[in-house]
Amino acid sequence: MQKTLSIIKPDGVSKKLIGEVIRRFESNGLKIAALKMKKLSKTEAEGFYYVHRERPFFGELVEFMISGPVVLMVLEAPDAIKQNRELMGATDPAEAKEGTIRKQWAENKQNNIVHGSDSEESASFEIGYFFSGIEIF
Ligand code: GDP
Repeated sequence: MQKTLSIIKPDGVSKKLIGEVIRRFESNGLKIAALKMKKLSKTEAEGFYYVHRERPFFGELVEFMISGPVVLMVLEAPDAIKQNRELMGATDPAEAKEGTIRKQWAENKQNNIVHGSDSEESASFEIGYFFSGIEIF
């Protein structure tokens, strides 16, 4: 079994899409192994997106991620990382495939409803960043 971190970003929470997004995961074989709601501090968001610190949109991305509460989840499935990324769709909704979460609900490249780990290495870092072992079922 593989685990990945999913985040319903502040835009997904404010658009009342928590249920819709979780439905997508559960009906496509991704088990919810952990879940919590949290308003990230600036330091927490900066640390989470540390790999993007040199990118021109870093400051804007951090401000967006702390603009409201997020839903943090650990998803589990045999191929969870890839499967979650497929359900999410491309970063830019204009390039996302029909039927994906971002195609259906994302506004633009930044306000794109969900985050999903992109490799085993980042999944391990990201899960450990937000969850302790006893919070994962
Ligand atoms: P992801 O793995 O599909 O989420 O995409 P990336 O790892 O490339 O980028 C991380 C996040 O940064 C994205 O999900 C967006 O919220 C944001 N982002 C990516 N590209 C841009 C951009 O060109 N401008 C802005 N403002 N945000 C971006």
